[in-house]
Amino acid sequence: MSTLQEKLNRIDQIRAKKPGFSDVMDFFEQIFIARDAVLQNVAVADPYPDSHGIAMRLHEGFPLLEKRYFVYDGDVLVSYFHRLLDIVARRNPAGAAAIRARSDSAEELLKNIPPQDIVKALAPFAGESDLMLFLLKECMRPWLERYAERLSPKVGEEQWHEGCCPVCGGFACFAEIFGQENQRRLFCQDCGASWQFPRLQCPFCGIDDHEKLEYFKPDGQPEYRVMLCRACKRYIKTVDFREFSDGLVPEVEHPATLYLDIIARERGYKTEDVLTGLLL
Ligand SMILES: [Zn+2]
Ligand SMILES: [Zn+2]
Repeated sequence: MSTLQEKLNRIDQIRAKKPGFSDVMDFFEQIFIARDAVLQNVAVADPYPDSHGIAMRLHEGFPLLEKRYFVYDGDVLVSYFHRLLDIVARRNPAGAAAIRARSDSAEELLKNIPPQDIVKALAPFAGESDLMLFLLKECMRPWLERYAERLSPKVGEEQWHEGCCPVCGGFACFAEIFGQENQRRLFCQDCGASWQFPRLQCPFCGIDDHEKLEYFKPDGQPEYRVMLCRACKRYIKTVDFREFSDGLVPEVEHPATLYLDIIARERGYKTEDVLTGLLL
């Protein structure tokens, strides 16, 4: 997991290289600083004091963090929510005002996370559901990161073969290709954990028919590529580490490459990622 300083350094590099992304980088800089302040005060208990429960769940293909283990301080989380709304308001005043007008529903939702039914939970925020989903996920993020720090090192490379996150079950939002044998690592959009996954397999539908998978590379940027799955019509952005000289910070790379999402969407592909819904 990247430190705050690594994220801020990478944001500075991107601002210098791609001035058009300054606005979006400013936004994430504020989010990362606010998150780090919460993170310093968040501690979570280890839900698996012995390794038996871990081995069992991984063997069955279940992510480690069950809903009953997600324990959080509601007051800290609600105050983080309002801090996030202040940050969002600078970029999207109308969206932040619409959510603020429904503060009671928002706080009710935040008392019961993760929600059993996300569609039902977001219903009161019609018109701003992408923004509310982003806020909801970001509110949970400091706790999820702490769980990921504890649980991720306990997941052996050979123990997990799924396309979703072994810690929280979230979708992959970014990938990197690395090493002599072109291995691939996926990054979770919700908790930040990463795990290895076969390079020629779709993490969303599991298909490994090479005829159904293709990569496209943007012109003049050999370090980036996008894997498209013709079977489920989803895509994932990827950094090729052999062409990448900078330090990879997936959380920064993702908003800094939104033009790749635009190309993939124009070709008829979709993603489960919340940021693209929010920013595009
Ligand atoms: Zn995760
Ligand atoms: Zn697929």
